[in-house]
Amino acid sequence: MNEKKFVYMDNASTTFISKRALKELNRCYKDCNNGNASSQHSLGRIGDGAIFVAKTRISGLIGCENENIVFTSGSTEGNNLAIIGAAKRGFSKPSEKKKVLTTEIEHPSVFNTFIGLEHDGFDVEFVNVDQCGIVDLDDLCKKIDKNTSLVSVMLVNNEVGSVQPIKKISEICKKYGCLLHVDATQAVNSIKINVDDLGVDFLTVSAHKFHGPKGVGFLYVRHRDDLSEVIYGGEQEFGVRPGTYNTPAIAAMSVAFEDAQKNIDEKKQFEIASYFWSELTTNFDKVKLFGPKILPYSPRVFNIVNISFDGMSGEFMVALLDTYGIEVGSGSACSGNGEVASRVLLAMGNQHDDCLKGIRFSFSNKTNKKEIDYVIKCLKEIHKMLSKTEE
Ligand code: PMP
Repeated sequence: MNEKKFVYMDNASTTFISKRALKELNRCYKDCNNGNASSQHSLGRIGDGAIFVAKTRISGLIGCENENIVFTSGSTEGNNLAIIGAAKRGFSKPSEKKKVLTTEIEHPSVFNTFIGLEHDGFDVEFVNVDQCGIVDLDDLCKKIDKNTSLVSVMLVNNEVGSVQPIKKISEICKKYGCLLHVDATQAVNSIKINVDDLGVDFLTVSAHKFHGPKGVGFLYVRHRDDLSEVIYGGEQEFGVRPGTYNTPAIAAMSVAFEDAQKNIDEKKQFEIASYFWSELTTNFDKVKLFGPKILPYSPRVFNIVNISFDGMSGEFMVALLDTYGIEVGSGSACSGNGEVASRVLLAMGNQHDDCLKGIRFSFSNKTNKKEIDYVIKCLKEIHKMLSKTEE
C-alpha cells in the first residue's frame, strides 16, 4: 500500500462539528456565555434571546411550537426523560396503565431504560423485528392493549440503518390511546422530520450526530402533561429538564440541525452506498449485508452500511482498518465489549457467530468515491494478508 490516508466512516458514532456550528458556538461563547439565560439582567436576556432563536429555528423545521421543545444533554437523557416520564405518568393516572412496549433493536439508552422499568414493576414487552430489522406490525398489534401506556420505536436503527414505519405504528398506538416515543437520533442527516407527519408524542435527537457539538440535544414533547418529573430542579424547560442552559451549545445545535435537515441529499447518499456495495460484491465472495437491501425505496437510510466477511470478527476488522487510517465501527460503539454478540443482529434472527462479524461503515455528506476506492483497496490487502497467514 503506497500512501496511508485518513478516512472517517464512523459518522453514526459521532460526526465532526461543522464550520457554521463552530462559528455559532464561538460567537455565543463571546456574546451570551457570561450570562445565565434564566437571569433577569441584560446579560441573562441576551442568553435567553439566543435560546429563543434556537428554539424557533428548530420548532419551525419540525412543525411544532417553541413550548414543545425541551433542550437536553443529548439522546441518552432525552430518551430517559421521555420513557420514564411517560411510563410513570401513565401509571399514575386513574387507568393505571402498567404495560410498555419497545423492540430489541433499540439503542441501549432506550433498551436499558425499559429493563429498568421492568425492575420497577412495569410489564415490559418487546415487539419482534424481521430479518431486515423492521418492526413486525402484526406482532405489535398482538402485544398492544388497553393497558399499554407507551410504545418506543426508533426511526432509524443505529447499527443497520433500517427505517421503521413510524406513521403506521402511530396509527396503531392511537387506537389504544397509547403514547409513542421515537428515538430519531440517527435520522436527522437523511430524513426530513415533521412531528405531525410522523404522528409522534415524543421525539429525541442529539446534536453530535448531525455535525453539532457534543453533550446537547432536544426532546420534542407534544403534551407536557403526559410526562412525570424524572429529574427535579428549577423551572428551566418547564421543569421537564431543569438545569442551567448550555446556551452556546444549544445555539450551535440549532444551526447544525437546520443545515442537516435542509441539505439532505438522498440521491447522493444512495449513489455512495450502492457504489460501495457493488464494489464489495465484485471484489469479495462472501460478503454479507445486514439490514434492508441497498435499492431505491428500500426501508433504510443509505449512510449506514453494516457488512460482514465470512470468518472475520468485526472487532478485528475494525482494528485492522484502523491501521490503514480507516475509522469504522463494529456494531454500536456504545455496546463497548466487542466480544459480545450484537443484540440488534441477534434480534434480526442472525446466527450467534454472524453477530460478532458486523462492520459498520457510516458515511457523511462529504464521503466520496475516492474514499470508497481506498477502503476497497485496503480490504483487498487485508484479505490477501489474512489468506496468506491461513496457508
Ligand atoms: N439513540 C441512538 C439511536 C444513538 O445512535 C445514540 C448514540 N449512539 C443515542 C441514542 C445516544 O445519544 P447520545 O450520545 O446523545 O447520548
